[in-house]
Amino acid sequence: MSSATESSIDVIVVGAGFGGLYALHKFREQGLSVRVFEAAPEVGGTWYFNRYPGARCDVESLDYCYSFSPELQQEWTWTEKYATQSEILDYMTWVADKLDLRSGITFNTRVVSSVLDEDTLRWTVTTDSEEMVTARFVVMATGPLSSPLTPDIPGLDTFGGDIYHTAHWPHEGVDFTGKRVGVIGTGSSGVQSIPIIAEQAAELFVFQRTPNYSVPAGNRPLTAEEIAHAKANYDERRRMSWRSGGGSPHVAHPKLTMEATPEERHAAFEERWHLGGVLFSKTFADQMINIEANEEARKFYEEKIRAVIDDPEVAELLIPNDHPIGTKRICTDTNYFQTFNRPNVSLVSVRKTPIESIDASGITTSAKHYDLDAIVLATGFDAMTGTLAKIDIVGRSGRKLADDWSHGPRTYLGLGVDGFPNLFLVSGPGAPAVLANMVLHAEAHINWICDAVGYLDQHGYAAIEATADAVDTWIADCNQRADATLFPHANSWYVGANVPGKARVFMLFIGGFATYLDICAEVAGAGYKGFRLLKAS
Ligand code: FAD
Ligand code: NAP
Repeated sequence: MSSATESSIDVIVVGAGFGGLYALHKFREQGLSVRVFEAAPEVGGTWYFNRYPGARCDVESLDYCYSFSPELQQEWTWTEKYATQSEILDYMTWVADKLDLRSGITFNTRVVSSVLDEDTLRWTVTTDSEEMVTARFVVMATGPLSSPLTPDIPGLDTFGGDIYHTAHWPHEGVDFTGKRVGVIGTGSSGVQSIPIIAEQAAELFVFQRTPNYSVPAGNRPLTAEEIAHAKANYDERRRMSWRSGGGSPHVAHPKLTMEATPEERHAAFEERWHLGGVLFSKTFADQMINIEANEEARKFYEEKIRAVIDDPEVAELLIPNDHPIGTKRICTDTNYFQTFNRPNVSLVSVRKTPIESIDASGITTSAKHYDLDAIVLATGFDAMTGTLAKIDIVGRSGRKLADDWSHGPRTYLGLGVDGFPNLFLVSGPGAPAVLANMVLHAEAHINWICDAVGYLDQHGYAAIEATADAVDTWIADCNQRADATLFPHANSWYVGANVPGKARVFMLFIGGFATYLDICAEVAGAGYKGFRLLKAS
């Protein structure tokens, strides 16, 4: 443990997931001294922690990887359309080794505070090992989905069996063979893990509060031809992704939903359904803004799902009816709905019969008690703001970021905050973030931040700080764009609805990835419009 204060660091990066790793590499290339602090003992972020059975990406592997290095792209070979957690983690550790990133990362070390010195415009970062480091820039690559939520169920801590959270899964894996298992939660993590747990468990009870839309992934091994073709055409694949609405090379149907004939519409949904996954919500460009269009997609979806569930009463419970399709992230599954046809699987609607308590032997709902050997919590995250709120970030005049954001996060472009000069957010609120392919999104943010730092140095500035006006205008713009869509209709984690007491604000830029990148480029091109550039005092 050291308490020495270093003053020679240019940049501190918090987090060694996709964002932090690239930040370290890019800043080093720019000749800056960088230090990364990572709470975990290894790189990977999301993919280090979320090891539950069935964990995979829902953006195709060929797209969900770094684009900045043609060499990395050509050397790595994905084996499946949607890579498993372990394959993604292997990829990230391979990148870290190849680019010699570990030497810049201090593992097992959590940043607890980051405090601005207004005179020097430097930040002092303190860690849980009581190390203090000062730096000119701080980059918070702390992840939008990195603070898992444990539900406040009376008696949870008295359960006599094993409790697992999908986001803190044991590294050695879990064998549920012969066990009576209860899964609480049916978001993406639950939907991916339930079919696999069901194959092992003697009995599986799925405690579902709100059903979710889930589209079959159509996962499969990639063929040698597909890989060769993708590698030969990566430039075009990436070009399409950068110019897309969500960072993947997807192109919506050329017509709007209701302009298409019923046959064209059906064929388009069918084609997208067979391609698989979350992009079903983008089959037509207007699906997320026009309720009539959305309803067409929803009806198609409902037919598909009813067709694979044996018991109509179970189907009724599994089909969402409280939000337009796509307004919560669509889950991507392999045999999720078919799992409820198994004799060892029971669906318990805790909307109808709420969970009242947990005791040593299991879960009690308002209707009955369920004896269990293990409970799996697939209960999600305090998304977008939860992890940042755990760090004591203190800017000008002693202002705390968490206080400033108590009514909802306020940023400019999702990158900067007024009162917090030289503090950058990666994939933070106010950016498209989780609405886009997050690897490309992280690259875009780091590239923008590194360019901004380069600009400061070239022009003799000490710091860059968003103006309060720019933040206000950006937040108003984000809200206006969100209000023009169907997204605010859902009680999603996008609006903080999953965290009791959290301000209800749509926390993302919904205008599309390419549009967002254009705005960021325009801001930079105009000499960082909306930011104040500060000379050293
Ligand atoms: P993270 O990967 O979350 O990394 C943040 C790191 O910061 C963590 O390692 C954390 O330990 C560290 N950290 C946080 N606070 C501190 C602190 N105070 N001190 C030190 N270290 C700290 N997105 C997609 O685009 N496609 C997908 O298919 C996809 N699948 C997902 C599946 C799951 C199960 C989950 C949970 C998320 C998924 N996401 C997906 C979103 C995913 O979070 C991003 O794609 C991406 O991995 C985020 O990278 P990141 O570097 O921004 O953050
Ligand atoms: P989530 O979508 O927030 O789902 C959490 C689930 O837990 C919901 O079904 C929720 O029900 C339920 N829940 C929470 N507290 C509960 C309680 N007290 N009682 C009963 N049920 C409770 O979280 P997630 O599944 O971890 O996914 C979060 C995000 O991570 C995803 O949207 C996605 O962006 C990303 N992710 C992606 C993948 C992938 O496919 N690549 C996989 C996992 C995660 P309510 O809806 O009623 O609140």
